[in-house]
Amino acid sequence: MSEANYDYGACHTCGEAVIARTIQQDFWIKGQLIVVENVPAGVCPQCGEKIVNAETGQQIAATLAKPDAMNVTRTINVPVVSLKAAA
Ligand SMILES: [Zn+2]
Repeated sequence: MSEANYDYGACHTCGEAVIARTIQQDFWIKGQLIVVENVPAGVCPQCGEKIVNAETGQQIAATLAKPDAMNVTRTINVPVVSLKAAA
């Protein structure tokens, strides 16, 4: 199955035709932020809804389930901001 040709159908939120793209998604696993790149997904041009197919979802779940076996390609620093003024 070609990623680019996968038919994600219509957006279940707004009904717009979803476009196949490659995105990145972030997940919090046991207090650690993990960014997964090169995720084939459908993105709605209207409302921004993102859809991954079952195969991709399982692939992500399997990857995140084994943090020690992850193929970490790079590490990034992430800014953290607070809406509360520092005491
Ligand atoms: Zn939509």
